Amino acid sequence: MDEFALIRRYFAPLSPAAEGVVLGIGDDAAILAPPVGYELLMTSDTLVAGRHFPLATAPYDIGWKALAVNLSDLAAMGAEPLWFLLALTLPQPDEAWLAGFADGLGTLARRHGISLVGGDTTRGYLSITITAVGSVPASAALRRDGARPGDLVCVTGTLGDAALGLRLNGFESRAPCAQSEHDLPALRARLDRPTPRIEAGLALRGFASAAIDLSDGLAGDLGHVLAASGVGADLRADALPMSEAFSRQAEAGDRLSLQAAGGDDYELCVCLPPDRLAAARAAIAPLPLTVIGTISAELGLRWHAADSTPLNPELHSYQHFDDRRQAP
Ligand code: ADP
Ligand code: MG
Repeated sequence: MDEFALIRRYFAPLSPAAEGVVLGIGDDAAILAPPVGYELLMTSDTLVAGRHFPLATAPYDIGWKALAVNLSDLAAMGAEPLWFLLALTLPQPDEAWLAGFADGLGTLARRHGISLVGGDTTRGYLSITITAVGSVPASAALRRDGARPGDLVCVTGTLGDAALGLRLNGFESRAPCAQSEHDLPALRARLDRPTPRIEAGLALRGFASAAIDLSDGLAGDLGHVLAASGVGADLRADALPMSEAFSRQAEAGDRLSLQAAGGDDYELCVCLPPDRLAAARAAIAPLPLTVIGTISAELGLRWHAADSTPLNPELHSYQHFDDRRQAP
């Protein structure tokens, strides 16, 4: 199968006639008409085999995750997804792999009404780059630089499942944990098929003073908000929300490191004034919004135990050029 047949067969179906698409796949570039009165947001994320997903990951999950991580960036900005580009590098045109990949990608794309408008297909080591475009009404985007002293720090959903899923599956060069069989699929699903919090991002637009998505781990990601906003934060380690599977399977001594430094949760971390909390919660229900701390004028990120005693955890968020961390 040549490159063009491959694109027609697997990727053209992800490109339905969609609003604003003057010309989609097939020419040298897509022609897009931005919605009047809106700003466009563009984001790009690459998944490299063996680094961003274990080599044994199902093609469906790879397709899903490649789009999910980009949608998560749009969610963090409060954007509505519009269009995306797919740059795919493949070792060979394996049809079973392509069918699974396009299925996972297409299922998530349809769920969020985002339309594939072009891309590139090349041969080489497996890697997927997606560029996604979204929109917000002018000046309404959520940003990292708006947190103010006194704001509450909140997170959606639960933290740590993906990192625990990675560990219990025997990646990270640790043995799989025998008693975890029952909870393993749920944890593994958080790692392989993350849920981008698009609806929550849209709903939080009127409430949040700052937002970021949690891709590399809470401590590091919140650190970006603090730096951009010129503030600090005090967090309660025991307040970090856990799933039932996580609370059954994570050892007490590992929890904070999994929840605060483990990546791949793709939840949103938002800051907001306390008087907006109830309305923000109602706006994203039934997804939980948990208060985990407060923003302060004193720079730095400080952790506290339930009785307010200071903690000094050693937390390392994922960094590509950090030699302390090795790829799975
Ligand atoms: P060019 O040579 O102009 O770069 P290509 O031959 O790479 O164009 O691609 C032909 C058309 O197919 C273009 O419209 C391009 O956007 C689209 N395309 C290529 N690869 C993909 C892909 N993986 N997914 C979606 N569209 C693709
Ligand atoms: Mg061209």
